[in-house]
Order: sequence, then structure tokens, then C-alpha cells
Amino acid sequence: MQPNAIPTARMIAHGHTELRADLHCARFLLALCFFFWCFPASELRLLGGEGPGEEAAWTAARLGAFLPPSLGGLGLLAAERVAPAAYWAAWADALPVLRQRFPDVAQQLVRALEGDAVAAPPCVRAAAAATERLDAAGWEERPHWAACADGAQVPATDGELGLGGPGWQRRAVLALHTSFRERELLPAMAPDARALFRSQSGQHAGMWLAAIPADAAATLAPDLMHIALRRRLRLPLPLTALHCGGDGAPGCHGQADALGDHFVACPRTGLLPRRGFVLERAWVQVAREAVGAEGRVVPQQWLARTTAPGVAPADRRRLDLVVYGATPGGEALCCDATLVSPLTRAGRPVPGADVRDGAALAAARRRKHARYPELLRGGPQRLVVLAAEVGGRWGEECQRFVRQLLRLRVQRAPATLRATAAQGWARRWWGLLSVAVQRAVASTALGVWTMPALPGSPDGVPLADVLELADFAGPSRLPLR
Ligand SMILES: [Zn+2]
Repeated sequence: MQPNAIPTARMIAHGHTELRADLHCARFLLALCFFFWCFPASELRLLGGEGPGEEAAWTAARLGAFLPPSLGGLGLLAAERVAPAAYWAAWADALPVLRQRFPDVAQQLVRALEGDAVAAPPCVRAAAAATERLDAAGWEERPHWAACADGAQVPATDGELGLGGPGWQRRAVLALHTSFRERELLPAMAPDARALFRSQSGQHAGMWLAAIPADAAATLAPDLMHIALRRRLRLPLPLTALHCGGDGAPGCHGQADALGDHFVACPRTGLLPRRGFVLERAWVQVAREAVGAEGRVVPQQWLARTTAPGVAPADRRRLDLVVYGATPGGEALCCDATLVSPLTRAGRPVPGADVRDGAALAAARRRKHARYPELLRGGPQRLVVLAAEVGGRWGEECQRFVRQLLRLRVQRAPATLRATAAQGWARRWWGLLSVAVQRAVASTALGVWTMPALPGSPDGVPLADVLELADFAGPSRLPLR
């Protein structure tokens, strides 16, 4: 396989690549082949068996694993939980088609569905029961049957693992998962687990679980994948040191925990700057692919070398990357990437992190604004805080930045292919960024740097490969904002 060739989902499914049979590939193939329909626990088996005294941890892990990635889970299909939503959605999607071809039949069915279900046929009674289940879950936007038959517009919902097909199904399944997460799962969690679960939720937070392991930047080595999956399920990690800084390594000599919380947050190990570089490198790659030859991306730029006003020539502040040529107004985007933990090194939530999504991100943004006041005063430069949490959650500024880069990138694609190209690039870039966060975090979670060296990144990716990614992701109903 060429180093810069992205295998398509079709190629991988037919075994036309020389991909390593590692955890990342195994996970991808499981998702691709819909094995979860038959073996819902097959992925959990990849993580090794249940150790002594770990029963409670594994029970909790299973509850979370069956949520979609944006809600903090692994995206395994929870057929038992979502069956009522799928059944209701099958009716809701079928009614407008029936109404077009057999209006009388559709009208009778709507009357039966909205009337007294006791005397109705079993299939109508089952639809009524599914509706009750959705209402009990608090799905307020559920349309009435008559509105479904009239072809009520389905609200746009991004597809992801475990949500099912487009149409009403994704929306209804999401309602049941959200209800379970908010009403049952989160309230039953300890504050530290709750803070981390919020940290691994959110748009694009779990893209690494669906990333196609086609090149080094989009692949997690098997040991790092193992750690990342166990961190996400809050299972004990293998071979964690008992103390921070043993055997002459730098550290605070505090007690370490088996979940990796201490090492992921402790600044005394000296590993945090190294892991920051991993994420910075991913942002540089994404920005370079976006601006192409018409723009410029400068990593590790001195603040004094930008157009920011009032900075002394000897100032030692450095920006992670500065992107030129990405905005219509021509401003330089001065980016500072940061990776923050919702837990302290003692394993306690930082203020607000267990009750609010993105609490650590908001604090990080405030810190960066205080560090670079010169970039907040207007002019031909702008501060962009690219903050992510160690669970994978992205700040709103990251989402806006990628949308901006997507708009820029698709302008270089033929007009008729732009919508598909945007989906493909979005999938590729969020995959790269999300894998980088997990690689960075997993590399520090054992208290020693465990990341193998990465080969150089490919300079360019052919448009055809990117379009294949969009094909695999399925048609999106979301406009490019
Ligand atoms: Zn420490």
C-alpha cells in the first residue's frame, strides 16, 4: 500500500489492504461488518478478561459502552434499548410513502395509530407501545402520526456509530440514549467518573473510534488503543506505577491510581509538553491540508514575529501555530492548542466539571486570553484557542475553526463535488485530531512515555480518497455551516 493511500471501506471489507491486524483495525472491521448485531460484547472481549475485584467496574463499563460516541460511549449497538425507537421510526418513515401510493390505507392507519389501540391489530398496538416508551423518555419533539404521514421534515442529525440509519430512526434512537444517559447513568456515577464521562462526550469527541486506520496519523498502536479503550470505559489500566516519579523518573512522588488519572493531570512528570506537541502536530497537518499552496502554516511561531501590537522583540511567548490565508479578510489565525483534564492529579473534578459539560475547556480559554491580551485587541491577527479535554471533548472554537478550514478546502474541489468533499475532509480531519488526543493521553497514562515514533505525514491526499470517506460515512443531511 502506498504510504499516502487511504484504503476505502470497500477495499478493507474485501481484504485488499495490508493493514496490520491490530486493535484499531479489529475495531473498525467489527463496526463495518455490523458484528455488534450478533455479538454485542465482542469488542469488550478485545480488552481482556475481567480481573479479580473488577465486577463493579465492568458492569458500569457495559452500561456506558452501548451509548453512541458523542454521548460518551463506544457506539456498540444496544438493540434492547433502542428497539422501540427503531420500530416507531419504521412506521414514521413508511407512512408518507404509503400516503402517496395508497392514501385511504394511510388514513385508516393514522386513525388506528392515534385512536384506542386496545382493539387494534398487534402491529398497531406495538407501535403505540413504542410511542409510549419514547414519550416516557421525554422526547418532546416527537411528531404526531398525522404529521409523519404528511411528510414532516426530519431534523438534521449527524450519523454515528450505534445510531442506525437516516430518517426518523437516528432522532428517535438518540432520544432514548440521551434519556438513559441523563436520567439513569450520570446520576448513578461518582463525581470523578461523571466528570470524565462528560469529558469524553460531545460532537466529534469519539471520532477516533470510527477512524479508518489508513495511515500513521489516523492509527493508534495496539497498546495505546488498549489504554484508550480502557480509559473510556474507566477500567483499571495495565501496569500502572504505584507512585509518581519512581525509579529516578521525574514526578511529584504522590500516590498514583490504577485509572491513570494522576499521570494524565500531573505536571511534574514532564510528559505534558510532549503530549501537547502530538496534538499541535495534528492541528498543523489539518491546517496545511486546508490552506494548500495558497496559504501558509507556521508552527512554533514567536508572538513577537506576528503583527500583534505592543509585543517586545525579546518576548519569549510562542504560539503553537499561525495560519495565514485562511480567512476572507486575510487575518493571521494565531492558534494555541491545549489539552486539559477535568480531574485534578488527586482524581477529583475541577470546579464544575462533574455537573457541566466543558467546564475545564472554559477555564483553559480564560487562561489563554489572559496569556495573550495583545491578540484580543483587533487588527490583522486573531487568537484561536484550540482547547480539548483529555476525554476527547472539543471546545466550540475548535468546531468553528474546522468548519472555517472546510469551507476553505472545498473551494478547491469541483463545484458539483463540494458537499461530498466536505463530508470526506471533515471525517478525515476529525479522525486525525481525535486519534491525536487519544494517542497523546494514552502515552502519558502509565506515567512513562509509551508512544512509538511516528513516521512523516503524507503531504497530500487525493480527492478521490477523501470522497470515498464521505461515501463510507453515508449521506449527511447537514448543510456546511
Ligand atoms: Zn505526580
